[in-house]
Amino acid sequence: MTNTPRIIILGPQGAGKGTQAGRLVHKLHIPHISTGDILRDEMARGTPLGKQITRTMNAGRMIPDYQTNAVMRLRLKQSDCRQGWLVDGYPRSIEQARPFQQFGYPNIVVFLHITDMEAVRRLAGRRVCPHGHIYHIRHDPPKKRRGYCDHDGLRLKQRDDDTPAAIRKRLKIYHTRTEPLLTFYKKRGSLIQIDAHPVIPQVYRHLKKELSKIPWLSSRLTTT
Ligand SMILES: [Zn+2]
Repeated sequence: MTNTPRIIILGPQGAGKGTQAGRLVHKLHIPHISTGDILRDEMARGTPLGKQITRTMNAGRMIPDYQTNAVMRLRLKQSDCRQGWLVDGYPRSIEQARPFQQFGYPNIVVFLHITDMEAVRRLAGRRVCPHGHIYHIRHDPPKKRRGYCDHDGLRLKQRDDDTPAAIRKRLKIYHTRTEPLLTFYKKRGSLIQIDAHPVIPQVYRHLKKELSKIPWLSSRLTTT
């Protein structure tokens, strides 16, 4: 059996996980699996699981680990995952990582590191349009008209969970629930740490360089 990349990306909010994941899956031709997208999709399709999740969210509770685990287990069984996958936004806790070792066996764990100060700075400046196009007031402002989306002309907004108070709350949860995963994966020998403070292309170059040290993966990273 040949090795297939089974990659997860960890890091605090604002570290650029989605952006780096997007570049990497394009290069490796593997599916980009975003837990948030899957959960939203289950809810939209009204599956039994989706209905459970909707009830949980409407009650203002957190989605229990067993439900997230069930969703991921099903997703990774689909045929597009046979040649590998990249999961972004999962696992978020040891309670998710333990079962994931049974049904997912991630073999590459990327940790994108930024300080809390940088996370707050990046997220507090983030603005989104109703279609999900993302801007940053300083680093990536709209080019046509200030405060309006370049693609569809719709008004940009700050998400409720991107206010400084909400960001600090999310970071606290990240430190207590998700950060212990670094030790968990370090013990299993699969952790790659990347400094995510530089600009996007520089972080991506560094990421590719570290990944190409994995003998069975390097040829897939150099071919165009
Ligand atoms: Zn837009």
